[in-house]
Amino acid sequence: MIVPRETLLQALSHLGVLIDETAIERLDRYAEMLIDYNTRVNLTAIIEPAEIAVKHFADSLTVLAAVDIPQGARCIDVGTGAGFPGLVLLIARPDLKWTLLDSTQKKLRFIQDVLNALGLHADVVHARAEELGRRPDYREQFDFVTARAVAAMDTLCEYCLPFTRIGGIFAAMKGPDAENELQAARPAVSRLGGGKIAFHHFTLGESAERNILTVEKTSHTPPKYPRPSAQIAKRKIGS
Ligand code: SAM
Repeated sequence: MIVPRETLLQALSHLGVLIDETAIERLDRYAEMLIDYNTRVNLTAIIEPAEIAVKHFADSLTVLAAVDIPQGARCIDVGTGAGFPGLVLLIARPDLKWTLLDSTQKKLRFIQDVLNALGLHADVVHARAEELGRRPDYREQFDFVTARAVAAMDTLCEYCLPFTRIGGIFAAMKGPDAENELQAARPAVSRLGGGKIAFHHFTLGESAERNILTVEKTSHTPPKYPRPSAQIAKRKIGS
């Protein structure tokens, strides 16, 4: 193994998340491929195996400590990059049906290679969230929607809530500034069909503070959302 097993298991036990032996082996192969690819394609700044274990793998798995995702749920990771958190969550929960979405093709090639190497399946989609979210085969079709390190909360709501079905959950992975981001995003949450919001707080490793904001989808997203990229950048919802 290249990922230090104890480091990974300790971080997971701290979170109260259990994964099986197959998942541990798959994560290790994933880390190996990430480090190798990263010498040719810039995927991540985190390349030390122990750091990958905590800052990519355990961090992605905080989602399972925050949300009880139903068996067989249809899920999407918006702006998945090199697969965080969606590919890690698929490895931990192979019952889930994942769509891994990104606007950068080279990252998706890496993801497809990892899926092939691990014998796993996901729909790997090259598109922009604000365009895909208007398509009827994606709009309000997902039980669970997540994203890490993609955009500020108000923009992220416009990317993610259109994908969430009524009764589904959108989980935004955020850092220490989550509370302020949420305050700025409250008008967007309600305009886009979001209802009850919950905060889940985690400490990773020694001191890194992480937050997951979960938003329940309670009403349909109005047809005018998501707006084209230029409009999203220009004008905040509610301003
Ligand atoms: N989620 C991964 C992580 O935490 O390591 C990647 C984070 S990276 C900083 C942001 C990713 O979001 C990039 O891969 C970028 O291509 C993608 N992205 C940004 N805006 C997007 C959009 N509107 N639609 C789809 N992907 C987007």
